[in-house]
Amino acid sequence: MLVRKKMDENYIMVDFSYYCYRCGHLNELPLDAPDAPAYNHVDLTCGKCGDGTRVLLASCPNPDCKQYVYWINDISIPEIVTGFAKYMVHNMQTMIDKAALQGAEISIDTPHNYPINASCPCGTDFSVDITIPDLD
Ligand SMILES: [Zn+2]
Ligand SMILES: [Zn+2]
Repeated sequence: MLVRKKMDENYIMVDFSYYCYRCGHLNELPLDAPDAPAYNHVDLTCGKCGDGTRVLLASCPNPDCKQYVYWINDISIPEIVTGFAKYMVHNMQTMIDKAALQGAEISIDTPHNYPINASCPCGTDFSVDITIPDLD
């Protein structure tokens, strides 16, 4: 998690910049950073070498704070969460089926959000809720 200041406290758009991991080119672009627990997940392409990366941004929900947090990675955090959730649901289903063979009944509610915790330097702890698509 990294933290940066917003351009304008009343605007969710931030002036995002990053150095390409592959060629070192400085890429700059405006991106939305909605207040957490909402988030914006964007695919980024380096303007010089075309290398792709992804960023997940959210603004600190403290109204007095002018900062936003972001996670930048080659892999998609929402995809990991979804993949992991599918794996868990599959394993739980196996367990439920086994229990059913023995006459037991188990029902498990699968969560709809996966929270990623963040701490802003202003002292606010919050989470970004990654939505888990319906897996049924
Ligand atoms: Zn590049
Ligand atoms: Zn803050």
